[in-house]
Amino acid sequence: MERLDAFMARANAAYYARPDPLGGFTTAPEISQVFGELLGAWAAMAWQAMGAPADAILAEAGPGRGTLMADALRVLRRASPGLAATVHLVETSPSLRARQASVVADAVWHDRLEDVPDAPLVLLANEFLDALPIRQCVRRGAGWVERHVAAAAFVELPCAPPPTVAAGDGEVVEWSDAARAMVRGLAARIVAQGGVALIVDYGPEQSAPGDSLQALRDGQPTDPLVDPGTADLTAHVDFQALAEVARDAGAAVQGPVPQGVFLMRLGLFERSRALARPQPPARAGALMQAAQRLAEPHLMGRLFKAMAVCHPGLPPLPGFAA
Ligand code: SAH
Repeated sequence: MERLDAFMARANAAYYARPDPLGGFTTAPEISQVFGELLGAWAAMAWQAMGAPADAILAEAGPGRGTLMADALRVLRRASPGLAATVHLVETSPSLRARQASVVADAVWHDRLEDVPDAPLVLLANEFLDALPIRQCVRRGAGWVERHVAAAAFVELPCAPPPTVAAGDGEVVEWSDAARAMVRGLAARIVAQGGVALIVDYGPEQSAPGDSLQALRDGQPTDPLVDPGTADLTAHVDFQALAEVARDAGAAVQGPVPQGVFLMRLGLFERSRALARPQPPARAGALMQAAQRLAEPHLMGRLFKAMAVCHPGLPPLPGFAA
């Protein structure tokens, strides 16, 4: 028997170590090249807002197939070559590191964010925190139980009340120690060394009870507890809780704002139209459809959010101010 977070950590480590774990994936950078290009432009503007420090480090956590960084670098190498000299990628999967190496030249890899060298930081993290292990407690009358996993089923063991939101009888409260530790460390580092981290992920703006653990196998929903390592396990990112963690560590937080709003403020449709204009109709239509998928509230535009953890000295950054 394992606690749910240990089970999820083991399952995802095995899953991401497979030869092409993200083959059936439709994350934002895989939907449209414009996503990575806009984040690259954002990184350049954030770096300018930091005073364009020559020693700043560009980094990404959980780069997947490397698509986001490859698209971002096309823009960055033109806009801010000073920031794009070396790219630091935080990635534990050997197979994904190999994929990333094929599209991002001159990258340096790290297992953990703490291993990225000291310097002012510009970090991008898309759909990274949702993959980190969560814990779940369930309210049972006056007490609480915590979910463990044995033989592909939940086992409930009595536990202390969870640290977060109020919940009614039978309701699930979930949180991620790993995501909280990651954001705490990131915030402390940014306060001490300067910089900003852009977090884009799916989840509610405000903490609420509920079970959001989900598994996708070959792009299809499946039981998260069956055959660990054959499906991608994710859970909602609790933006409110993570913003509190970052502020407690002394950092400033901008957003969260819905992904659609954020990307439209950065010029999603203008850039997509400019790309589409010289293309044959089918390709042009696909580019505009991809932009809609990222921005439409009923598709990815509302559930996904963008939030920046920044040094308190930074001005409002693009995408966060109306
Ligand atoms: N950002 C990409 C991929 C998201 S999938 C995209 O948008 O398409 C999650 C990524 O995080 C994968 O690259 C996975 O290998 C990596 N990852 C998951 N857990 C990790 C951990 N604990 N430390 C470092 N990388 C991790």
